[in-house]
Amino acid sequence: MKKFSVALAGLALLASVSGAKEFINIGTGGMTGTYYPVGGAICRLVNMDKNMKCSVQSTGGSTYNVNNVLKKELNFGFVQSDVVYDKYNGTGKFQGAADKNLRSVISIYPELLAFVVSKESGIKAYGDAAGKKINIGNPGSGNELTSTIVFENYDFDLKKLAQHGVLTAQECPMALKDKKIDGYFYVVGHPTANITDAATSLPIDLVGIDDEHIKKILEKYPYFAKGVIPAKMYDGVDHDTQTIGVKAVLVTDASQSDEAVRAVVKAILDNFDEYKKLHPALNLVSKESLLEGLSAPLHPAAEAVYKEAGLLK
Ligand code: GLU
Repeated sequence: MKKFSVALAGLALLASVSGAKEFINIGTGGMTGTYYPVGGAICRLVNMDKNMKCSVQSTGGSTYNVNNVLKKELNFGFVQSDVVYDKYNGTGKFQGAADKNLRSVISIYPELLAFVVSKESGIKAYGDAAGKKINIGNPGSGNELTSTIVFENYDFDLKKLAQHGVLTAQECPMALKDKKIDGYFYVVGHPTANITDAATSLPIDLVGIDDEHIKKILEKYPYFAKGVIPAKMYDGVDHDTQTIGVKAVLVTDASQSDEAVRAVVKAILDNFDEYKKLHPALNLVSKESLLEGLSAPLHPAAEAVYKEAGLLK
């Protein structure tokens, strides 16, 4: 990986002196999630700029991405806004490990926490998870961090779970079908292929967070918002599901070249109508929402593009 990034830096340098392409990569998530296809869509737009060559990398998710952007192994990464906040401020799981080099590029779309269970498990509420095999998320994912916070706020000790698995979200639909797990967590832009796959493989349900706990969580954390996964978004789930949400944010390191940041932001802004059609999770985004929920400062090149576009003063 080190060699790869040295090679990338070399290529970027070559690009700037010879007018050749600048290579950039974007860290996303599992292939059946939403980060990966949206990352691919962003790269397709960026690649219309003949000076850029953008590629996506499938990764373990937010925590992996934020750490590797800051190590300069990735140029850009998709990261949940709660994870951005904690990493920038050194809070939560990143206590004592604040990194002020983290920069925001765009807020991409809302992600809502889904607690996906098999109907057969009989789980209807968080408390029912006691004694069950629940995949809280693989290390490197944001799922792990967010689901742990929700359980903490239910005063639910994770030791009460029969198993708190570390499968990737991509592995979960199959594991649910094979009864290796009773449920799993996914903080994701909806609809996502992952949960659609689960719903077509076996009868599933989504477990919501009740009013009391939504209130408690929103009072305590600045980065969560209340959200609803609508009924019938996934086969067999005929009720609305109240839950908490964050934003998927594209981040980079403060040292990232202005050219690359500018190319990414302009690719999205200049092709906005086309961009919105590239994935259903982007349906409700607006140019203004690209600036919502950012908890690390904007990279100066992104800020300049937003100013030119009249989105920032
Ligand atoms: N939010 C998830 C995570 O950071 C990934 C979601 C996705 O891949 O779409 O772990």
